[in-house]
Order: sequence, then C-alpha cells, then structure tokens
Amino acid sequence: MKETLLKLTGLEKHSDYVNKFFYTANMRASIYMSVYIACMEIWMIVRLLSRQLTGTDIRSDEYYVSHYLNYSLLLIVALSMLIFAVRYVTGKKCSITFGYVLKWVFMLICLFFGIDISVSDYGKGEQVFTFLTMELFAACLLTWRPIIGFLIISISYGIFYLRIDPMEIATTGISGSTDATKINMFIMWIATLFCSFAIYFRTISQAKKDEQLEKLNRHLEDIAEHDELTGIHNMLYFRMEAAKKLEMPEKTELAFLFLDIENFKSYNETYGFRNGNELLNKTAVLLKSTFGDSLTARMSDDHFVVLTEWEGAEEKTAKISEEIESGQEDVQIHLKCGAYRVKEKDTDPVRACDRARYACASIKKYYGRRFREYDEKLSNAYRLRHHIVNTIDTAVREEYIQVYYQPIVSVKDGTVIGAEALARWKDPKYGMLSPGAFIDTLEEHRQIHKLDCFVIERVCRDIREELDSGSECHPVSVNLSRLDFELCDIVKFVCDVTEKYGLEHSRLDIEVTESALVDGKELLKYAVEKLRDLGFKVWLDDFGSGYSSLNVLKDYKFDVLKIDMQFLDGFSENVNTKPILENILSLSSRLEMVSLTEGVETEEQLEFLRDLGCCRAQGYLFCRPVPRGEYREKVQHGCIKPAE
Ligand code: C2E
Ligand code: MG
Ligand code: MG
Repeated sequence: MKETLLKLTGLEKHSDYVNKFFYTANMRASIYMSVYIACMEIWMIVRLLSRQLTGTDIRSDEYYVSHYLNYSLLLIVALSMLIFAVRYVTGKKCSITFGYVLKWVFMLICLFFGIDISVSDYGKGEQVFTFLTMELFAACLLTWRPIIGFLIISISYGIFYLRIDPMEIATTGISGSTDATKINMFIMWIATLFCSFAIYFRTISQAKKDEQLEKLNRHLEDIAEHDELTGIHNMLYFRMEAAKKLEMPEKTELAFLFLDIENFKSYNETYGFRNGNELLNKTAVLLKSTFGDSLTARMSDDHFVVLTEWEGAEEKTAKISEEIESGQEDVQIHLKCGAYRVKEKDTDPVRACDRARYACASIKKYYGRRFREYDEKLSNAYRLRHHIVNTIDTAVREEYIQVYYQPIVSVKDGTVIGAEALARWKDPKYGMLSPGAFIDTLEEHRQIHKLDCFVIERVCRDIREELDSGSECHPVSVNLSRLDFELCDIVKFVCDVTEKYGLEHSRLDIEVTESALVDGKELLKYAVEKLRDLGFKVWLDDFGSGYSSLNVLKDYKFDVLKIDMQFLDGFSENVNTKPILENILSLSSRLEMVSLTEGVETEEQLEFLRDLGCCRAQGYLFCRPVPRGEYREKVQHGCIKPAE
C-alpha cells in the first residue's frame, strides 16, 4: 500500500540511472522550450521597437521600459537555459545542481509571464492561451514527479483563477466567476494534470526499461570479455588487446606465456570440482598479482595465457609455480610454462599463443622442468606439425599416405596368420614420416579420422585384389583412434567399406588402444560391442602401457589381447618381466582372449613366449613393416622367418 502510494505520488526512490534519465529528458525538453521562448521574445522586442520607432503605437515610457524589461528577462533566462541544456546533452562538464536551479527558475518565470500576460488580456476580454501554453510547456514538456507536478499545476491555476475572479466580479457584478469559467478552468486544470502524470509515468517506464537494457548490455559485455569462473579476461578479449599491442612499437621485448597445470585432471578427480575451481581461481589471482598490468587470460580448462615483458617472465612464473605446488601432497600438480618471444614481424596473437602452447606441451616429457622457450628446434617441429595438419587432405588425395604391413605369426609353428596395417607418410617436402610424427598431431587437431578412413579403405581394396588374384589372404588389423568414434560414424564406415569390396567382416580386425578406453566413454563402449556383434574381431592394443589396464579388461570384451612391447624391454636382465608376462598370458586365456605379444626381436623372447603358451607374435624378428608388394612377396616365398 505504502509502496503504491509512493509510486503514484512519485516519491519512490529512483536509481541513479533513472534520475539521470529524467534529468536528461528535462534538458532535452528545455532546449525546445527555450528556443521557442527566445525566438518569441526576440520577435516581441523587434515588434515593440519597430512600433516605437515608427510611432504606430504611441505608449508611455513606463510601458516601453516595463515591456523591454520583461521581454529581456525572458530572453536571458531562455538563452541561459538553452546554453546550459545544449552543453549538458553534448556531454560538456556542467554543474547538475545549477541545472536544477535553472530549470526551476525557467519554469517559474515562464508560468509567471503566462499568468501575467493572460490575466492582462483577460482583463480586456481577450484570450487566456498564453497561460495555457506556458502551463503545458512547463508542466507537460518537462517531466515532474506527480506530487510536484500536482503542486505546480494546482498553485498556478489557483493563482490564475484568483486573479481573474475579481475581474469577473467587476465586469458582471456577480460575486465569483461564472459557472462556464469555473468549468473551463477545472477542465483545463484536470487535463494539464493528467498530461503531466502521463508523461511522468511514460518517462519512468522508459527509464526503467533502458536501465534494464543497459544492465543487460553491461552483463553481456562482461561475459564477452571475462572468464566466468576466474573473473580474469577471456581469450576473445586477450586476442583483441594482444593484436593492438603487437601493432604498437614497444620499447621492451614482449613474450607470450602459456601456462598449464599438469595433473589438474587428477586433482579434480581427487578433491572434486569445487576445489578444482578454487585452484583455478588461485592461479588466476596469482597471475594477476604477479604480472600486474600485463594482459592475462584464461584460455580454457587449466590453461592460462599472459602477454608480458620477456625480462623476468621465467622468474615470475617460477614464483607462481612454487606457490601453487606448495602444500599439495596427494596429487602432485605442477605449473608448466611455455614462452614465445615476440619478433618484430609478429602480428598474429593466435599463432604466438599456439607457439607458446607448443613449447609448454614439449616440456611434458621432461620431469622437473617448468619452463621452456620456443626455440629453433621447436620451431622446426612446429612447422612440421602445421604442415601435417594443413596437408592431410592432400596427403590422402595424392596418396602420400601409404599402408605398410607387418606380419603376425603363430608362436607355435611360425606361420603367418595375419598382418597389421601401419600408416607411413611419404612427404614430398619432409621425406618419409613415421606415425610418431603425425598421429598425435592429427589427433590433437581432430583430423585423425581422415587418415584412418583412408587406411581402412586401402586395406579393404588390397584384400579384395588379393582375393581376386586367387592368392592366400590373411586377415589384416587396422588401428583406430579413440577420436574416430567421435569424429565420424566409424562403425558405419567400416561396414560400408567392407560391403563395397564384398569382404566378410572376419577379414578385417580392429585394434583399439587401451588408452582410448580408459575414459570409459559410453559411445566407445557401445561402438566396440557393436563391432563385435557385427562379426569384427576387436583387439586391445598396447595392453599394459596405460595405468588402467585391468579396468579396461573388466569393462570391455575383446577377442585379442595385444601385449605392449614395453614388456619385452630388458627381457633378459629384468627378473620381473617373466612372472609379469606369465600372469598376463594366463589372464588372457582365462578371459578367453587370444594373446599376441608385439615387439618380439629375439629368438630367446620367442622361445620364452612359446613356453608360456602365447598364441601370436609380431616383431622385427619376423619382419619389419613393409610395403604391400614386399609383404606379399615375403609371405608367398616363405621369407617370414619361421620359428623353430
Ligand atoms: P602399434 O599399433 O602398437 O603398432 C606397432 C608399432 O610397433 C609399429 O610402429 C611397428 O612398426 C612397431 N614395431 C613392430 N615390431 C617391432 C619391434 O620388434 N620392435 C620395435 N621397436 N618396434 C616394433 P609404427 O608403425 O611406428 O606405429 C606406431 C603407432 O602408431 C602404432 O602402434 C599405432 O598405435 C599408430 N599407428 C600406426 N598406423 C596407424 C594408423 O593407420 N592409424 C592410427 N590411428 N594409428 C596408427
Ligand atoms: Mg596397433
Ligand atoms: Mg601396439
């Protein structure tokens, strides 16, 4: 109730934004009013002057003086109001209080003259419209809170009425004005009042709407520029500002830093997301306080970027690393930093960040190292990486990619029972590239499916040709990346290609690496099951190379267990190798999987595997991966070294 009353009277408290909106609306209206009044007064002065000079209307000196004074006063006030209002709306520095005073003075003088002129005309039996015009100007063009509008309008009407009432008595002899006058006055009063109220409520609703929009805008601007979690800038802002910085000549040498919290995933898993977020916030705060005015942003997840002076950058990041790493016991987290020093010709912040990121990623392999600058060596590797990503389509189209085959033999009698298809990239610029040089890069850039689809297609075509030529043909296994299941419908692709070449599904085996499965994505689980249902044999590749090997065996069903070649490393010296392998092999037979050991290089290893009952073997002892023609020849001529 109280609130409604406050609202209706306009006594409610407004926000600064709404008050400013009101003030500006009034200043705008004052411009129209003051221009009109100034013009009118100039015209009146000129008219009076011409009458005086030409002698067409001879009046007393007193008359002229009082009229000139009145006109001039109105003109001065109108011009003052005009100058102030124009200065205000054009954004010049103005005193707000002075504006309020001026507005009131202007309004009161207008009303005073409106009443005065109309009263004197009324006395002569003429119009009252000057009063009405001024009333409409002052009370309706300007916006007033309803209670103030009510007072201004009612008092001015009251004064006007009280001044004309005696004149009516004088002319009509009747006490008080006529009913018609009273009714006219009442209608005019109520109409002006309603106009004033309507304008107030319209302005206030507009102001509130504007305020909401402004708030929304500010919020949008904020999320467009800031990272929601940490509050520091986001990449959009970073890129824009960094590009501006690169364009400006700098006195000091600048560097892009890319920071990555190593083991953040484990930290999140151990302590939960809330603590993970706290760690990110802490990192952001440390970065901001350590790098001060430098550009700082969160790129994604646990990755941050900074554009700062090269001088002292390493020391600063070391300090932050120390702070973050201290007190962490259960999970060892490390803050690693890659740096790229800005060259004169650099203009692209995205590329610079990418280089710093590359330098950071390259430290991963080095234990204890926290900082690495992007140097010549990295630059070459980086260029190769770019070349691979940019050339994969051409490489597939122009057949830079070739499929090599490495035989898989039966441990028992040494006969070839299959082959693994392994990709090779014969690049016109870089020469022969092994998978180590391109698989990771293609995975990182989510392009790996292009390679794998090509290899599958080529393998199926080769098998078809082999069958058509009437030669003996063993199943071939192809390697799939975890990402193939995300980037394309690989199950459908494999089905379509085998159908295209009229191959039974038993001719193509699918190798999936253990690391691909540890994330336990439902999608992958479903795909593996589907492939098996469709009659493809699914192999678990590189078993034992990851840290969740046994979990993978628990959750998935495989046909072949391919034991990672690491197990044969230091075979003769390491006393643990034999019992471990023994157990893995017995596990695979208990889980009804065919066992295959890769990386077999010596007779001794083969002998040992045979003793333990390993079913299949693959390795340099039999044959290295070779091109198709060579592979076929070797198989046909029995050159794959048979085991004794
Ligand atoms: P992988 O599937 O475990 O393949 C076996 C790797 O071990 C091959 O390396 C092979 O050349 C090598 N190898 C075989 N026998 C021996 C041996 O006796 N001693 C040693 N030291 N190495 C041996 P490669 O061809 O360099 O391939 C490396 C990895 O790249 C593969 O490991 C596979 O994961 C991946 N890869 C290869 N081709 C493709 C492909 O077409 N698609 C996908 N997604 N991955 C592929
Ligand atoms: Mg493999
Ligand atoms: Mg393997």
